[in-house]
Amino acid sequence: MCKNPNFFYLILNKLKNSKMLEFSLSSTKEGKGAIVATIGPASDTPEMLEKMLQAGLDVVRLNLSHGKHEDAKRRFETVRDVNDSIPILFDLSGPKIRIGEMEKTVVLRKDDELILTKEEIMGHGKKVSVSYKDLIDFAAVGNSLFLNDGLIRVEVVEKSKDNLITKVIHGGPLSSRKGINAPDIGIKLFSPTDKDIKDLDFTLGLEPDFYSVSFVRRAEDIQTVRDIISSSTDDRVPLISKIEHKDAVLDIKNILKASDGIMVARGDLGVELPPEEVPMLQEQLVNMCKSAAKQSIVATQMLESMVVSPRATRAETSDVANAILQGADAVMLSAETATGEYPVEAIAAMDRIILTTQSYVPKRMKIGLTENPSIAESIGQSAVQLADGLDVDYIIAYTRSGSSSSLVSKFRPNQPIISVTPSKATSRRLRLQWGVFPLYLGRDFTDTDEMIHAGIQMAYDEKMIEKESKCVVVAGSLLGLPWETNLIQYYEAETVISSLEATARFAKAYSIVPGDN
Ligand code: ATP
Ligand code: MG
Ligand code: MG
Repeated sequence: MCKNPNFFYLILNKLKNSKMLEFSLSSTKEGKGAIVATIGPASDTPEMLEKMLQAGLDVVRLNLSHGKHEDAKRRFETVRDVNDSIPILFDLSGPKIRIGEMEKTVVLRKDDELILTKEEIMGHGKKVSVSYKDLIDFAAVGNSLFLNDGLIRVEVVEKSKDNLITKVIHGGPLSSRKGINAPDIGIKLFSPTDKDIKDLDFTLGLEPDFYSVSFVRRAEDIQTVRDIISSSTDDRVPLISKIEHKDAVLDIKNILKASDGIMVARGDLGVELPPEEVPMLQEQLVNMCKSAAKQSIVATQMLESMVVSPRATRAETSDVANAILQGADAVMLSAETATGEYPVEAIAAMDRIILTTQSYVPKRMKIGLTENPSIAESIGQSAVQLADGLDVDYIIAYTRSGSSSSLVSKFRPNQPIISVTPSKATSRRLRLQWGVFPLYLGRDFTDTDEMIHAGIQMAYDEKMIEKESKCVVVAGSLLGLPWETNLIQYYEAETVISSLEATARFAKAYSIVPGDN
């Protein structure tokens, strides 16, 4: 127990005034399955963001493929102003080939002619420019090209120096900057591109919480991004590799090792590979992430019909539920929230699906230790077993970088994990971890007991736990290797809280004035 009443008096006072956590456990979906939503023209006002947060938004994604640096900065700052506990992920474009700007959305029909050109023009229903001019040279008559996440298929029928004349095989809507996939053509383009490097340079100053890297093909692509980041900041910004190219699937083990998480970017993946391969690949990727205690995000077209309709289809509902059953850390919305007509409804729908599905999740998952587990991982597993054995209500994990917390989350416990951290950035990033509720402690400690007691007190004060709660605590003894998880303890919250209250009464009775240490 702490013997310094000053200290607790100070903490209690701080807690009374604190509004550090915007959500309590009861108003969230138990942390099992976060919602990542792309913010764009349809959703970038403070009012919309507030509504989306209330509906269940957990992580904001800003896609650097669309708009200018000023737009990204404005959106970033708007989100931070609305709520600085919400993590923001910047999505780096990567070498994705795109059509140029278009006057307006057009609907292509079977047998229409569409010209892809090297010229920089304002596109229309007959002719559009392409971002990667060499595509015109590399493509051959007979090749298929896919536009708009594979929705539209065209075939090259004629070729000139600057143009590919194509015939529409499968039609669909086409608008500005939609992607082009050319799986028939071996294109050697790698991440990060020059644009990505400029985008990193610009956005790192904003202190984002994550980057996702598009079209990763090799582990070294992600390492290059990591090197660029570490040459400009001490913050080790977590990197999410977007798996959307067949080369990435072949090198997945090394890519996962180099990354902090993975996005199953099904839009491009399902064009680069036969679409029927994607569901099983998704399951494998999510499982690999679980074993490695890294985060997985399942993305693209999850509630696509909600771009224009207030209700999701049954198939879309099942798709979201399936990702949650697989144990993905997060599910993502793209156009649904960036440009769609029903951004808030899409988040609310996703939230309801997650809520309903999550109660079936834990019993399905058994995840083992890695081959040479670290002490922290072994403790994570034991804590989860102990939590079940003792039938506790919460697991409380003390974590600095978030890694100890991920080693509890990995074992997908039945209890909510309250991850206590002295770092504001970590507290945001923890929102992506399965089953985790972040608690920002606001300061560092030099005494392990003090740290644990302050965390329990704060969790109680923020209504994350109750007085009667039984908790398993995992932490790093500050006397040993600092912040290396090396201890498990059992607590009944009441014992700590009542002694803290007694200490505060004592402090008051003796008129001890809180100092500022
Ligand atoms: P990626 O391959 O990275 O997913 P994308 O082009 O598919 O890129 P998404 O972020 O998935 O883009 O969003 C889906 C659609 O929403 C985009 O094609 C685009 O039309 C629109 N969109 C997204 N973000 C913005 C934005 N900031 N400004 C305008 N439109 C956007
Ligand atoms: Mg993509
Ligand atoms: Mg997309």
